[in-house]
Amino acid sequence: MPVDSTIARALAGISPVQIQHTIAALVGFRNRSTLSSMDKDLPPGTGINAAADWIEGQFKQIAADCGGCLEVKRDTFTQAPGTGPNARVTQPTMLTNVYAILRGSDPSQAQRMILVTGHYDSRDSSNFDSHGEAPGANDDASGAAVSLACARALSKLKLPATVVFVTVAGEEQGLYGSKHLAEMAKQESWQLEAVLNNDIVGGNTTPGDKFQDKHAVRVFSENVPASATPEETKRILALGYESDSPSRELARAVTYTGRTYTDAAPLMTRIEPVLEFRRDRFQRGGDHSSFNEEGFAGVRFTEWREDFNHQHQNVRMENGVQYGDLLQYVDFDYVARVARLNAATLAVLASAPPAPVSVKYPPGGPVFDNSINNTTITWAGSPAAGTNAKYEIVWRETDAPDWQRAILADKAGAKQNAGTWTVTLPVSKDNVIFGIRAMDAAGHRSSAVVPVPGR
Ligand SMILES: [Zn+2]
Repeated sequence: MPVDSTIARALAGISPVQIQHTIAALVGFRNRSTLSSMDKDLPPGTGINAAADWIEGQFKQIAADCGGCLEVKRDTFTQAPGTGPNARVTQPTMLTNVYAILRGSDPSQAQRMILVTGHYDSRDSSNFDSHGEAPGANDDASGAAVSLACARALSKLKLPATVVFVTVAGEEQGLYGSKHLAEMAKQESWQLEAVLNNDIVGGNTTPGDKFQDKHAVRVFSENVPASATPEETKRILALGYESDSPSRELARAVTYTGRTYTDAAPLMTRIEPVLEFRRDRFQRGGDHSSFNEEGFAGVRFTEWREDFNHQHQNVRMENGVQYGDLLQYVDFDYVARVARLNAATLAVLASAPPAPVSVKYPPGGPVFDNSINNTTITWAGSPAAGTNAKYEIVWRETDAPDWQRAILADKAGAKQNAGTWTVTLPVSKDNVIFGIRAMDAAGHRSSAVVPVPGR
């Protein structure tokens, strides 16, 4: 994919100093426990409500700087208490998501949405402590800072599809803020094509940790979609598509974008997205899963190596060890690199045409097909893609994590007839997994879609 110089310029504007300012400001609210929204005794300028006001103010400032290009939204609702002995919300609690919408500049594309999110709530050792120091610098002021940095950078661009910059609350009590937003997106039939969740992207800097990698970020994606019915799961396994969920194709779009925009970059800005083929870190969860549950593609970005001494801990010294999610352990250059990767992915996906539809292996069946070592694929352009969209065929060996080959459909001899494209390649679908991506004239690629047996 060629580098789009307009996007590259926007990425260059993402500033570690600005990110430091955002994270320090959020830490300054002392404790951003979602439960603090109900407290009446907090000193002014502390607690999660003050943090929500500040984030809203930041989005409004960014909107003012781009001539009102962002719609700033504040969604406040009452979360019902959880059930059971481990409930982390025990009384009706006010939750607020704060977000901003950059409407697509192309009326035929503006219904399409790409979303970036981080949670702005924090916690210390006790879920119920809404007063003690809970800086949450890495978890997850860093992720909230990515959303704000992306809004700042991309509000300077005209992107055909819509981008939504989100900060949610309630993550620490059970993903409540993201669940509310994902359910709303489903109910309101948002054409939400991709969700990028940033949680713990601070590049934890603990003195003595020799194994942290400041140029790698993990990208987690589900294998079989959380929303798949038992029948759908059965079909996915029958086709050998257990590593080809829409979320995983999104993760591959992230690695492709990462290679395009940072491989040639100076060391300061280079970052490598590392594919992690599981829903989240081992036995842990995050906000992208709320969107996965509702059937949306979503991935999670997390730093290379986490340090539990600096997550969910009361700030304290113990046997000479400093505990607490403190500002001093965040690497702002690293957060800026992760923000650039996110912004590049958002910009590329919002510039590319929508992914193709009806991607199929036409009927005929492998057994009776004379050309068993050839593969024919058909697809149609999404109606919103327009007539100028081009297509690309990608494939990989069945044991390869990422696409290995790509060829433009035109070069492969694809023919279009009444809106349906057909191509035949001398490669057996027994041995590889194929995908089709849409692209515009400038080369921005969509995520890939794998073919299913046609009828
Ligand atoms: Zn978190």
